[in-house]
Amino acid sequence: MTPVRVIGAGLAGCEAAWQISRLGIPVILSEMKPKRFSPAHRHPGFAELVCSNSLRSAQLSNAVGLLKEEMRRLGSLILTSADETKVPAGAALAVDRVAFSDLITQRIKDNPLITVTEEEVTEIPKDGVTVIATGPLTDGEMAKSISDLFGGDQLSFFDAVAPIVDAESVDTSIAYYCSRYGKGDPTDYLNCPMTREEYDAFYEALLHAATAELHDFDREAQSEPNVFEGCMPVEVMAKRGYDTLRYGPMKPIGLPDPKTGREPFAVVQLRRENTAGTMYNLVGFQTHLTFGEQKRVFGLIPGLANASYLRFGVMHRNTYINSPSRLSPQYETISRPGLFFAGQMTGVEGYVESAASGFVAGVNASLRAKGEDPVDFPAETVIGSLGHYVSSGTIGKFQPMNASFGLISPLEKKVKGGKRARNDEYAVRSLQTVGELNARLFGQTESEGNEP
Ligand SMILES: Cc1cc2nc3c(=O)[nH]c(=O)nc-3n(C[C@H](O)[C@H](O)[C@H](O)COP(=O)(O)OP(=O)(O)OC[C@H]3O[C@@H](n4cnc5c(N)ncnc54)[C@H](O)[C@@H]3O)c2cc1C
Repeated sequence: MTPVRVIGAGLAGCEAAWQISRLGIPVILSEMKPKRFSPAHRHPGFAELVCSNSLRSAQLSNAVGLLKEEMRRLGSLILTSADETKVPAGAALAVDRVAFSDLITQRIKDNPLITVTEEEVTEIPKDGVTVIATGPLTDGEMAKSISDLFGGDQLSFFDAVAPIVDAESVDTSIAYYCSRYGKGDPTDYLNCPMTREEYDAFYEALLHAATAELHDFDREAQSEPNVFEGCMPVEVMAKRGYDTLRYGPMKPIGLPDPKTGREPFAVVQLRRENTAGTMYNLVGFQTHLTFGEQKRVFGLIPGLANASYLRFGVMHRNTYINSPSRLSPQYETISRPGLFFAGQMTGVEGYVESAASGFVAGVNASLRAKGEDPVDFPAETVIGSLGHYVSSGTIGKFQPMNASFGLISPLEKKVKGGKRARNDEYAVRSLQTVGELNARLFGQTESEGNEP
């Protein structure tokens, strides 16, 4: 049988190659290291964790914790290897990064169905089933080839996002629904009103808040005038003067507070992020503040004191495709069946999410190689919800996303007992669906295990 090609042996590429081989199809996995390293990669092994050694929460009541359990049960190479190389980290799953990478490299190299080639691939192969997983720092000829495939401006090189909060965590006894000048659907925006005193306290805190450290390649990307002026961090805007924010993203004009009938001194607008209305983003609040500082400083905004962040604001170099209507929920290119993308470049964000997309793309690439139809990973699971998000996106500009319960299909019935009880219910439903997927794809019951 003709091998499937996988390009890039990062988290997504290794997972994809492993799942393809698991379904009996040979794979050629091409990796440019150690001949060439991206500005963030250092270790010659595969599946390198370029920054933190944490794969985040291990708890099922957390979306990324549930995603890990789904992947574990499905027989993910990345998850089983992480479990074997873990180091103590409280409620999180963290690994010894070198042992983790070395174990995965060994497993891939020992796999008789996977052939590894050390080469930088400079264009998308013209035919055959292929998975491109070259990561968020894809550049040069390969970036050009992807950009040419999707057309001009469909490949982004920079990620500047404002924080996204869980709609249920916004205090609506303070924040009010209203679109500016009453135009459009009022539920499109939730407005957090500020008095002068509240604005002063927030402004002071913002001026002195701690920012995250920048990598050289992030600094370089941001020095582009069109990037910087188009998405200036909120804390930089604040430094331009006391009123800059009040004339910019915190403009109160046309947003009277129904409680007073008057426009507040300043307003932070939250824009609905998805049709279900479960997620809202802070309009114009792209930021470099550390995650802890975002929680502290944005917690001073009336209505957001107890906000739960589905995604913090970030600004960094990140190559990703404008995936909605270009990729299917299986990460397959709609205009070219048989060509899959996987990893952070599809618009998922994070180590585990990247591996998860590699899982889905790998399984479906092997089905394509066998001449079979792709299989849907339902949006009732976290792994499936990521593919559905990437292929359909949000209301505004498409932005990469971490795993989140905001992306998963809402429950059919309302659950009493608050957020925790609701999340537990999500977990029960998802793991049942994963059991069905396992039986369908691998003919396995959970008790039979999925060790690599
Ligand atoms: C600086 C930085 C820090 C990050 N920190 C975190 C973090 O702490 N936690 C977190 O959850 N996420 C983090 N991320 C986001 C993301 O989860 C990781 O980047 C993740 O590694 C993405 O997985 P991937 O498989 O898509 O890409 P990668 O893991 O980057 O793998 C891509 C692979 O493809 C290879 N490659 C690239 N181009 C070619 C080519 N043309 N031919 C052949 N091989 C090629 C690369 O050498 C690499 O091995 C970070 C991202 C960056 C850029």
